[in-house]
Amino acid sequence: MTQRPTLPPLAALTAPSLSWNAASPYSEVFEDVYFSRENGRAETEHVFIHANRLPERFSHWLETRPFVIGETGFGTGLNMLCAWACFERHAPKQARLHLLSTEKYPLTRAELAQALGAWPELASHAASLLAQWPAAVSGIHRLHLTDRVTLDLHFGDTCERLALLDGQVDAWFLDGFAPSKNPDMWQPELFHSMAARSRPGATFATFTCAGIVKRGLKAAGFNWQKVPGFGRKREMLAGRIDTPPLDCRRQQTPWFTPPAARPAAHIVVIGAGIAGASVAAALAKRGLRVSVIEKQAIGAGGSGNQQGALYVKLAAQTNDQSRVYFSGLLYSRRWLENLDPAHQLWHNSGVIQLALNAKEAQRQQRFLAAHPLPDGVLKAENSDSLGDIIGMDASAESALFYPQAGWVKPRKLCEHLLSQPGITYRQGEVIRLEESSQGWLIHLTNGENVEADQVVVANAQLANRFEQTHELPLQAVRGQVSSLNLPDNVEGPRSVVCAGGYVPPAVDGVLTFGASFVPNNATTEVQDQDHLGNIEELRQTLPALATALEKAGVDLTPKNLDGRAAVRAASPDKSPYAGPVPKTEAWQQDYALLKKDATRIPALAGQHYPGLWISAAHGSRGLASAPLCAEVIASRICDEPMPLEAPLVDHLHPGRRIISALIRAQ
Ligand code: SAM
Repeated sequence: MTQRPTLPPLAALTAPSLSWNAASPYSEVFEDVYFSRENGRAETEHVFIHANRLPERFSHWLETRPFVIGETGFGTGLNMLCAWACFERHAPKQARLHLLSTEKYPLTRAELAQALGAWPELASHAASLLAQWPAAVSGIHRLHLTDRVTLDLHFGDTCERLALLDGQVDAWFLDGFAPSKNPDMWQPELFHSMAARSRPGATFATFTCAGIVKRGLKAAGFNWQKVPGFGRKREMLAGRIDTPPLDCRRQQTPWFTPPAARPAAHIVVIGAGIAGASVAAALAKRGLRVSVIEKQAIGAGGSGNQQGALYVKLAAQTNDQSRVYFSGLLYSRRWLENLDPAHQLWHNSGVIQLALNAKEAQRQQRFLAAHPLPDGVLKAENSDSLGDIIGMDASAESALFYPQAGWVKPRKLCEHLLSQPGITYRQGEVIRLEESSQGWLIHLTNGENVEADQVVVANAQLANRFEQTHELPLQAVRGQVSSLNLPDNVEGPRSVVCAGGYVPPAVDGVLTFGASFVPNNATTEVQDQDHLGNIEELRQTLPALATALEKAGVDLTPKNLDGRAAVRAASPDKSPYAGPVPKTEAWQQDYALLKKDATRIPALAGQHYPGLWISAAHGSRGLASAPLCAEVIASRICDEPMPLEAPLVDHLHPGRRIISALIRAQ
């Protein structure tokens, strides 16, 4: 049986060791060039673009899904930028392009700018890439280069990364330094992973004709031929695979096999909080018509606060949940930057996580030891440096600083997302979902019904009110924030400060802090008890601020505070649900054998309600999880590569608990 690929550690990646011949980089480690010193662009066009017949294939691309190019070794990005420019020249207006590329030694932004500076004709493409260039951290980094062009950077070792890829490729750029200089990459696993993640008829092209490459490609099922090489290179290889092998990774987890893609033109999203609004925007960007139906009002629930923290709290030892949230944080940050470069809806203030006691300080130390991440992503701070970041004395000896995190105006963000072209918003309460010959009939309490090809359920703690979703456990968690007007001579913190709760910088003179956390409580009236808890947290987190407020005459008691309480929804394992809705009873029958012996895995794909999806259980971290979960769902609906590694996509699957319950019942 094929082993499920395991995730390599979350880690900072090593920088490449470069020397330069003008703008042309040379790797001192591999002793090889990134591209031809004579004419890199002409080489790319010859070897990768034309040998994959991209101009012709792009010009005929009428599919609703994007054309997918996979590359080994992103390097300076020249190949991918050329493919993008070629796509713009040749593809019909509605066509979309998805680029994915591995890279183990990412260039710094400055190195990338230097290398790409050599191609003025690609300057606008390069600018979009440079603006979003991620930190050198292992994992998948999704960049929206334009509304039609997406780039997934799979940072890490090529063989490891392709084994974790959940997606299929139409054309491969088999790059990477020459096999003689970089034998570790040109392994049989590389060719087998490429084959297993190819669409039928996928092509490839590579600059090399080395025997190990010819043999590896053939053994994996690719046909190849020698074609004239670029410049002084006499020959190179190009070819295709007509019948890719089945993806045997699913042998161990057949229940997570994604449902076959089905046509979708109109999608109904139930719920207009951050989960629903971000999924609506992700679908509309892909050209789908989206109707959002909301029982109360935009951001009426947990996403309705004036301010919310974009932050995560990661486990000391990495687990799948932490990885999802970590990827989500980095994704949300890029997504916000793209959506609102003027920072009207959010602020990149960073987030400080204080260690207020020895136990938390030790936990943070263990976390840092297990996660050597770049300073731009995570940094240890002491009491001196903390004061500079927050702008006031902090009560802690140590803390973690997340420079990529910050705060958001969640309700304004939801309103902005729902104003995107292609989205209609209406108020209404959905009471029942009915499968129809066309897709779904969505019944409202006022007797109306709406037709849709597919439905995404994203209404927080009400997400399991439907017959199809009622087996998904959701816990209501009450959360109340408190707020007060700051006196003229008192300022709030400069970054978000978290300990038990959080305190973001003040907005328009109003300081907000909170939130209370009351599980199994779905009430929303403002309560003094919650205010008192929030005041106590504020005193512990930022005693200097509490003292300054009292000195300025502010009476820190509930009667002087405004507040807002809302209900958030959590799953029992505290990870969100993002994916297709399973048919619970069918799963319980199909996989009943697991109750007797967890190693006897029936070879049956999981049954799902066709075209029914859920994004829920984001708890109080929805700003970090919902936008990435929206991409997970939109990518699946539109038959695109996934923005997370396969095991993490599975981790979010709404059916995960059905399987763990069967195995536990052994
Ligand atoms: N395609 C690139 C471009 O358009 O600029 C040029 C690629 S350069 C010849 C080879 C790239 O492969 C380098 O960026 C190198 O860091 C990367 N690389 C080498 N071995 C790798 C591995 N095992 N996994 C991932 N990337 C690797």
